[in-house]
Amino acid sequence: TGRFEGKTVIVTGAASGIGLATTLRIAREGGRVIAVDLNEEGLAALKEEHANRDIVTVTADIGENEDVARVIEACNGQCDGLTNNAGIMDKFVPIGEVSDEMWEKVFHVNVLGTMKMTRAVIPLMLGAGHGSICNTASMGGIVGGAAGAAYPASKFAVVGITKNTSFMYAPNNIRVNAVAPGAVRTNIGGDFASHLALARVGPRMQVVVPPPAAPEEIAAAITFLLSDDSANVTGAVLPSDGGWSAA
Ligand code: NAD
Repeated sequence: TGRFEGKTVIVTGAASGIGLATTLRIAREGGRVIAVDLNEEGLAALKEEHANRDIVTVTADIGENEDVARVIEACNGQCDGLTNNAGIMDKFVPIGEVSDEMWEKVFHVNVLGTMKMTRAVIPLMLGAGHGSICNTASMGGIVGGAAGAAYPASKFAVVGITKNTSFMYAPNNIRVNAVAPGAVRTNIGGDFASHLALARVGPRMQVVVPPPAAPEEIAAAITFLLSDDSANVTGAVLPSDGGWSAA
């Protein structure tokens, strides 16, 4: 039997990249997935291609309260896990060139969305007496750099939410961890492997930045943190970066 048998897990950003890989992994391991994304077409394709799996799709903007309420309704009173994975990147510009609009857009999804989804599942998890949340941080949220100014700032905030929530709810048997990917082959469209990024990051790390990972590699770390395999782990930020930060 799979690790997610009998469990309901919400995955945000489920139509693409890491969220899609995580959705499929959980479904294959017997779980019901509440697959959330802004991209309605992407969700429809997911549902069609994997009609044999227990996947419920919800088109929603995780930064909007009414949308978040619809996601919770789709859970039918059960939510054993949440992965706050939906995220966006801004342009590769320093803070001197950041517009209010760029900043707010990134924080709307990466920070406000993570907070709102977390806040919304807490009553269900408290009621059940257990829960596991995995946030998608980033190496950008540990070492900074390698993206526009708003992105690392938002990911440092995700680490902050992770640490605080894990501390607050540890007595309630709700675990909260994060995965910190390095470069991954997805549609996020960031250019942290750009010339400027490599020029800045490469020499500091004194190694060549490892090739981007497959989304499935990050999904493996996320499902570890969501499952009972990590029952003794909370408040952790797990790098999955092919050794980028280790060098
Ligand atoms: P992706 O663009 O392939 O997938 C992100 C998904 O999130 C998209 O389907 C998008 O429609 C959805 N989304 C965006 N805004 C949303 C919103 N407001 N509400 C609901 N859904 C929304 O990118 P990805 O690389 O798979 O990104 C997943 C996470 O991984 C992000 O948090 C990202 O910051 C993080 N990450 C990615 C990399 C990388 O190299 N790709 C590295 C480190 C961290």
